[in-house]
Amino acid sequence: MQVGLARAGPIIKMAESWKPTETKDCCAIWPQIVARFNWMRFEEAPEFSTMRVILIEGHSYRVNYCPSCGAKVRDVVILRERVMQAAEKDLLIETILNLNGEA
Ligand SMILES: [Zn+2]
Repeated sequence: MQVGLARAGPIIKMAESWKPTETKDCCAIWPQIVARFNWMRFEEAPEFSTMRVILIEGHSYRVNYCPSCGAKVRDVVILRERVMQAAEKDLLIETILNLNGEA
Protein backbone atom coordinates (compact mmCIF):
# COMPACT_ATOMS: atom_id res chain seq x y z
CA MET A 1 0.00 0.00 0.00
CA GLN A 2 1.44 3.37 -1.03
CA VAL A 3 -1.08 5.70 0.61
CA GLY A 4 0.44 8.70 2.37
CA LEU A 5 3.85 8.66 0.72
CA ALA A 6 5.24 12.18 0.79
CA ARG A 7 5.89 13.81 -2.57
CA ALA A 8 8.93 15.73 -1.39
CA GLY A 9 10.44 12.70 0.34
CA PRO A 10 11.50 12.26 3.94
CA ILE A 11 13.02 15.27 5.67
CA ILE A 12 12.79 15.49 9.46
CA LYS A 13 11.57 13.46 12.38
CA MET A 14 10.76 13.66 16.04
CA ALA A 15 13.48 11.34 17.31
CA GLU A 16 12.27 8.16 18.97
CA SER A 17 15.73 7.14 20.09
CA TRP A 18 19.20 8.61 20.18
CA LYS A 19 19.78 7.25 16.70
CA PRO A 20 19.39 9.90 13.98
CA THR A 21 16.58 9.14 11.57
CA GLU A 22 14.46 11.28 9.31
CA THR A 23 10.85 11.75 8.30
CA LYS A 24 8.42 14.40 7.03
CA ASP A 25 8.06 18.04 8.04
CA CYS A 26 5.50 18.68 10.79
CA CYS A 27 3.74 21.35 8.70
CA ALA A 28 4.13 23.51 5.59
CA ILE A 29 5.64 26.40 7.55
CA TRP A 30 8.39 24.32 9.13
CA PRO A 31 10.68 24.16 6.07
CA GLN A 32 10.52 27.94 5.85
CA ILE A 33 11.63 28.50 9.45
CA VAL A 34 14.07 25.60 9.81
CA ALA A 35 17.11 27.79 9.19
CA ARG A 36 16.17 30.08 12.10
CA PHE A 37 16.92 27.43 14.70
CA ASN A 38 20.30 26.49 16.08
CA TRP A 39 21.37 23.11 14.81
CA MET A 40 24.28 21.04 15.96
CA ARG A 41 25.94 18.07 14.39
CA PHE A 42 25.68 14.56 15.75
CA GLU A 43 29.10 13.24 16.60
CA GLU A 44 28.12 9.71 15.63
CA ALA A 45 26.35 10.80 12.44
CA PRO A 46 27.73 14.11 11.11
CA GLU A 47 25.25 14.16 8.22
CA PHE A 48 22.46 14.76 10.74
CA SER A 49 21.79 17.72 13.01
CA THR A 50 19.64 18.33 16.05
CA MET A 51 18.55 21.51 17.83
CA ARG A 52 20.89 22.91 20.41
CA VAL A 53 20.13 24.74 23.62
CA ILE A 54 20.42 28.50 23.13
CA LEU A 55 22.34 30.28 25.87
CA ILE A 56 21.39 33.89 26.55
CA GLU A 57 22.84 35.76 29.52
CA GLY A 58 23.39 32.68 31.62
CA HIS A 59 19.98 31.17 30.86
CA SER A 60 19.39 28.28 28.54
CA TYR A 61 16.44 28.17 26.20
CA ARG A 62 15.26 25.52 23.85
CA VAL A 63 12.56 25.29 21.26
CA ASN A 64 10.18 22.52 22.26
CA TYR A 65 7.29 23.05 19.85
CA CYS A 66 6.89 24.22 16.28
CA PRO A 67 5.80 27.88 16.43
CA SER A 68 3.36 27.23 13.59
CA CYS A 69 1.59 23.92 14.22
CA GLY A 70 2.65 23.14 17.79
CA ALA A 71 4.19 19.75 17.01
CA LYS A 72 6.90 18.63 19.39
CA VAL A 73 10.20 19.51 17.72
CA ARG A 74 12.59 19.39 20.67
CA ASP A 75 14.18 16.14 19.53
CA VAL A 76 13.91 16.72 15.82
CA VAL A 77 16.69 15.27 13.75
CA ILE A 78 17.34 16.79 10.35
CA LEU A 79 19.73 16.16 7.49
CA ARG A 80 22.51 18.71 7.69
CA GLU A 81 22.28 19.29 3.96
CA ARG A 82 18.64 20.24 4.44
CA VAL A 83 19.58 22.83 7.10
CA MET A 84 22.13 24.35 4.74
CA GLN A 85 19.60 24.52 1.90
CA ALA A 86 17.06 26.19 4.18
CA ALA A 87 19.68 28.68 5.36
CA GLU A 88 20.54 29.60 1.78
CA LYS A 89 16.87 30.11 0.96
CA ASP A 90 16.39 32.10 4.15
CA LEU A 91 19.27 34.37 3.21
CA LEU A 92 17.78 34.88 -0.23
CA ILE A 93 14.36 35.79 1.22
CA GLU A 94 15.96 38.22 3.65
CA THR A 95 17.88 39.85 0.82
CA ILE A 96 14.69 40.25 -1.21
CA LEU A 97 12.88 41.71 1.82
CA ASN A 98 15.74 44.13 2.45
CA LEU A 99 15.80 45.22 -1.18
CA ASN A 100 12.05 45.75 -1.15
CA GLY A 101 12.32 47.67 2.10
CA GLU A 102 14.87 50.02 0.60
CA ALA A 103 12.79 50.73 -2.50
ZN1 LIG B 1 5.00 22.61 12.34
